[in-house]
Amino acid sequence: MFSQFALHERLLKAVAELKFVEPTPVQAAAIPLALEGRDLRVTAQTGSGKTAAFVLPVLNRLIGPAKVRVSIKTLILLPTRELAQQTLKEVERFSQFTFIKSGIITGGEDFKVQAAMLRKVPDILIGTPGRMIEQLNAGNLDLKEVEVLVLDEADRMLDMGFADDVQRLVGECVNRQQTMLFSATTGGSTLRDMVAKVLNNPEHLQVNAVSQLNSTTRQQIITADHNVHKEQILNWLLANETYQKAIVFTNTRAAADRIYGRLVAQEYKAFVLHGEKDQKDRKLAIDRLKAGGVKILVATDVAARGLDVDGLDLVINFDMPRSGDEYVHRIGRTGRAGNDGLAISLICHGDWNLMSSIERYLKQSFERRTIKEVKGTYTGPKKVKASGKAVGVKKKKTDAKGDKKKTGAKAPTKRRITNRPKTDTPSLVSKDGMAPLKRRKPEAPAAE
Ligand code: AMP
Repeated sequence: MFSQFALHERLLKAVAELKFVEPTPVQAAAIPLALEGRDLRVTAQTGSGKTAAFVLPVLNRLIGPAKVRVSIKTLILLPTRELAQQTLKEVERFSQFTFIKSGIITGGEDFKVQAAMLRKVPDILIGTPGRMIEQLNAGNLDLKEVEVLVLDEADRMLDMGFADDVQRLVGECVNRQQTMLFSATTGGSTLRDMVAKVLNNPEHLQVNAVSQLNSTTRQQIITADHNVHKEQILNWLLANETYQKAIVFTNTRAAADRIYGRLVAQEYKAFVLHGEKDQKDRKLAIDRLKAGGVKILVATDVAARGLDVDGLDLVINFDMPRSGDEYVHRIGRTGRAGNDGLAISLICHGDWNLMSSIERYLKQSFERRTIKEVKGTYTGPKKVKASGKAVGVKKKKTDAKGDKKKTGAKAPTKRRITNRPKTDTPSLVSKDGMAPLKRRKPEAPAAE
């Protein structure tokens, strides 16, 4: 029960209004410590309820009578516009019975409108690092009186190349009394450096290890012969699965556009979201999906980051994500807050080793599924190593025959990946023992 926390009654009223009954594990662990003013490092994935875990303590600290605002008291930094918008919404829902005001600063929005908002001085400022720095450079942003700093999805901010910007903004919060850093993964050395620099004797809560995906989400793989076959399977799934809303992930913008085109041609209510879409399109896609006008979203990783849409119960990986963390982020779109979800990955011979690395990384075995109506010939490698990866096939054979189908499972070679079109995936390297696959230049934080 939320009443177990020493939260102000106006916040408990909002919690009740939102029909939150039981705190999630991350909330149960983090809220009491955050209320004590402790610095926190929390490893928790999207969908775990982490936003309320920091928003409620932040609001509790700020709650009080209406007054003229003189300074920003809380800064929440996060990687993408969508996550910023969702966090703002969560803050507004929880603060509905208080006088606390919040504002948002992200790329893709009118700079002057943001400057005007900053002149009114919100209590809580939420935003992405790039635009924050621009507002800071323009002399519109004063962070000197910030008491609480939250770095949400810190691992992702670092992956997207925001380390210096974040560091600079942290440096501006000279009088901060509490810092909370959230990440979906335990991260690499850059995250460790940031934790060491930014947090003061933090409590580390590893509530949701990256390997513990939402247990309510079933994870399946379906083998496919090639991309055209994948499209047939996709069509079958979208026509026959029971779902309210679905998201189809691709690794490239071109693939997202291609699949979107095919779906629209079949009169599906679909939308496409990737880094080349402007902010208006992105908002429209998300709003329509939320309102139910659109049932299927085709998206790349950057674009879908932070999406939180009720009823999103089917995730299809048309392309396998290139790291275990990315897989977790994608699958985190479904099965949120205890709802059932289904995640299906389509696996060609070139995807097999990546898929098996991800299984190992997650310490899980995906359910193998066959659909007789669209069954192909490829069913996985003929021989697998103890690791689950395919036993290598001599390259010469493949080249000579030029017939990939007959070669069985073939490891995705570096070259093949390097030759892919420009990726929309932001993470640069695999982490924590994942297959060391090279990434192409990531999409510039176009999400910014
Ligand atoms: P988050 O991980 O913060 O993005 O939260 C995922 C979703 O779960 C959001 O839609 C929240 O509003 C919802 N949520 C968070 N905590 C709870 C809770 N204790 N009870 C029910 N829903 C929750």
